[in-house]
Amino acid sequence: MRTVLRSGFFVIPLLAVLASAPAGAPPPGTPVQSPEQIASAGRVITSSMMLDHVKALSADDKEGRAPGTVGEERTVGYLVGQFKRLGLTPGNPDGTYVQAVPLIGFTGKATAAFDVKGVHMPLTVPDEAVVVSRQGLPDVSVGKAPMVFVGYGAVAPEFEWDDFQGVDVRGKAIVMLAGDPPVADPANPSALDPKVFKGTALTYYGRWTYKYETAAKKGAAAAIIVHETGPAGYAFDVVKASWGRENFGVAGPDEAAKHAPVDAWVTLDRAKALFTACGLDFDALKARAATRGFKPVPLGATASFAVKNTIRSMSSRNVIGRLEGRDPVLKHESVMYSAHWDGFGVNRALQGDQVLNGALDNGSGMATMLAMAEAFTRLEGGTKRSMLFFAPTAEESVMLGAKYYAEHPLWPLEETLADINMDIMNFWGRTKAIVSIGYGMTTLEDVLVTEAAKQGRIVLPDPEAEKGYFYRSDHFELAKQGVPALHFLHPGAEYRDKPQDYGQRMRDRYTAEDYHKVSDDLKADWDLSGAVEDAQLLFGVGLAVAQGSAYPEWKPGTEFRAVRAARLKAK
Ligand SMILES: [Zn+2]
Repeated sequence: MRTVLRSGFFVIPLLAVLASAPAGAPPPGTPVQSPEQIASAGRVITSSMMLDHVKALSADDKEGRAPGTVGEERTVGYLVGQFKRLGLTPGNPDGTYVQAVPLIGFTGKATAAFDVKGVHMPLTVPDEAVVVSRQGLPDVSVGKAPMVFVGYGAVAPEFEWDDFQGVDVRGKAIVMLAGDPPVADPANPSALDPKVFKGTALTYYGRWTYKYETAAKKGAAAAIIVHETGPAGYAFDVVKASWGRENFGVAGPDEAAKHAPVDAWVTLDRAKALFTACGLDFDALKARAATRGFKPVPLGATASFAVKNTIRSMSSRNVIGRLEGRDPVLKHESVMYSAHWDGFGVNRALQGDQVLNGALDNGSGMATMLAMAEAFTRLEGGTKRSMLFFAPTAEESVMLGAKYYAEHPLWPLEETLADINMDIMNFWGRTKAIVSIGYGMTTLEDVLVTEAAKQGRIVLPDPEAEKGYFYRSDHFELAKQGVPALHFLHPGAEYRDKPQDYGQRMRDRYTAEDYHKVSDDLKADWDLSGAVEDAQLLFGVGLAVAQGSAYPEWKPGTEFRAVRAARLKAK
């Protein structure tokens, strides 16, 4: 059955049979809410309401909302206070509005070397290799692990692709290329095949997180990615800078098993030198790795690493509120909205303003979520399924709060129909289109298209799909566990009464001047009229799913479809 949902406007015969109708409930087949009732709840959302939330959440007293600081206390306090004011119930079944997230911060010092045919090749850390151990242990070493080249390190059944064919890499140091396998289109060999790894768009398989996770699952002793600026998406200096400072992880006894002892990047030059010393042609093997017939190649070399970590424990919190559904059978199912609360805190090294207020990133996302929560509380008749309003911590540290929730869910993930994530919204005016990051992946988007059409708007694909933004915010952690997700990141396009390039100019200006800086603060030229329309739209999407008959699903050929199917089957 094709699962196209329409607006929350009809009751499903099956449901009506299953549900024992509570007193006063409409008879089977009666619409739950009229379009006017839905529109009326949507009109609760206003610019001034959203602006008030952004002002409060990005005020200097929130100190940039860094996890584990007084900024966390005040931010969590604000969100919980708002959830209570709106009459949401605690989103944690323990009766609270929070989920404790145990974290560690670790700073490492490392050494690295290859040995080939009696020749010792030490690597300078971090100029030639960046090396970390995420297992939460103070001392980790890998001694002379045999090295195997595994192409792009991808195991993608939907593309009939397996870079680990016929090889057991347990205890070995695996060497992987950055990005997705660039598979040539048989019809046009100078272009990429859109049917395999989505052509030029980046998939999950191209992200470093995937490669390291796969290495851990396969039992590798070390996972080494060969850095190349094009496919990685950034220069080696960026890897050095971001991995060289304190890194964060989830704390806990089962964490060590989720990581290979060593995760590393090596420069292209050093990788080529290694392959040459092994008597292998790097470029020829790289070309072979872009074909389906590729098989892993033992290098005849070994890799050795030693990492010493300074570790500190810290505790943070996810915040979650719930609006319980009214249908006795369906209320245990949920529709989730998410927007991370954390930011970059205070930078004491700066002269003048030191607070990274995070007004757009992600005060705007939280404001949108709070505004929608208010609309749901004012919706006559309520929803059949329950609504979850989820503000994870530590998104800026590889989505650790969302990852923790996805691995320790408070509400069953197989009964969570959707996650609608917001991370930096459009504060630059009304638009004729909304951009769905990860366009074409789920049937949730069909709902989005239907709802957008009611506003006279259209849905457009991500103009920068090669950057893989779908894999870089909280919903992705839920998607990895199978939950169908939509993601909105400065989603405005085709601004009304503005030049064609206006949106791109505003986005580029924000990225260059304000993103992750003290100047991501309130702006005199903001226009929240588009953000209000977007909030009303996403309210409509969540409502349609909460009232609808069909379960949103991943479309064929997407990375998360098999996981979802397995979870629903096990249910
Ligand atoms: Zn963000």
